[in-house]
Amino acid sequence: MKETGKLYVVATPIGNLADITFRAVETLKAVDLIAAEDTRHVKMLLQHYGISNKVIALHQHNEDKAAVEIIEKLRAGLSIALVSDAGTPLISDPGMPVVKAVHEANLTVVPIVGACALIAALSAAGVAITPFTFEGFVPRTSSARKTFFSERAEIPTTWVFYESCHRILDCLHDMAAVLPVERSIVITRELTKLHETIVKLPLVEMLELVENEPNMRKGEFVVIVEGAEKIDVSDNTITPEQERILKLLLAECSVKKAVDLTVEITGGKKKPIYQAALALNEK
Ligand code: SAM
Repeated sequence: MKETGKLYVVATPIGNLADITFRAVETLKAVDLIAAEDTRHVKMLLQHYGISNKVIALHQHNEDKAAVEIIEKLRAGLSIALVSDAGTPLISDPGMPVVKAVHEANLTVVPIVGACALIAALSAAGVAITPFTFEGFVPRTSSARKTFFSERAEIPTTWVFYESCHRILDCLHDMAAVLPVERSIVITRELTKLHETIVKLPLVEMLELVENEPNMRKGEFVVIVEGAEKIDVSDNTITPEQERILKLLLAECSVKKAVDLTVEITGGKKKPIYQAALALNEK
């Protein structure tokens, strides 16, 4: 009886072309066929590694049909590599219906591990990771995003999502509207690339940074949100003197500056002063 082929799920770089494993390159050379999210995109990668293999399209809109064809080919003994435009297939990328169908057909799926923006971000962020929740891309409209964030406001563990440069600022505005302003956020952008940036700040400061620094609105983003802390109610009051100073400073400078100076002048805790600054700012 003829041996069936295997489906190899191959991770490719998320920016830096050197971030591909030897095994991935060998696999892409050895398979009979490469099923790719974007055939032109993968051809650039293949060219870089001197791979001249046949490529077929596998995008969101043809996945069910492609799954049937891929299973036929695997049964005929062909081996196939599945790749997406960047990183690990199926992670906010096409491939799930194909992999599911291959399992259901009792054929073999082999992961060829490598880059993944989510894992790279978590590995370098310095936040509690176990457990964490991966949310993929968050909703695109402001009202849906606010609902989405407020539903997660009390989650005590880390959550992570992907965001595009077109929406990162609006997304942070929506987050600041429903999450505590002192919530710790990590933005990782352009991972593995020339302008790689990893910044951890309280939400209100992150918003100011992204608003004021145009480069912080460019490229690709992974956003990490630390889980909610249990709030000590006694922490949440500020003295009349702190409030007086804060009000004076808010009239003259940004929330961040006013809060930092109030903390410096009064020696108070930052968190309640932030909350008070936000409340005063909204009046
Ligand atoms: N499959 C990919 C993976 O393994 O990470 C993710 C594909 S998803 C369509 C693309 C999103 O991943 C981008 O919009 C961005 O949010 C994130 N991303 C991809 N590459 C990135 C990078 N180099 N730095 C930061 N985020 C990245």
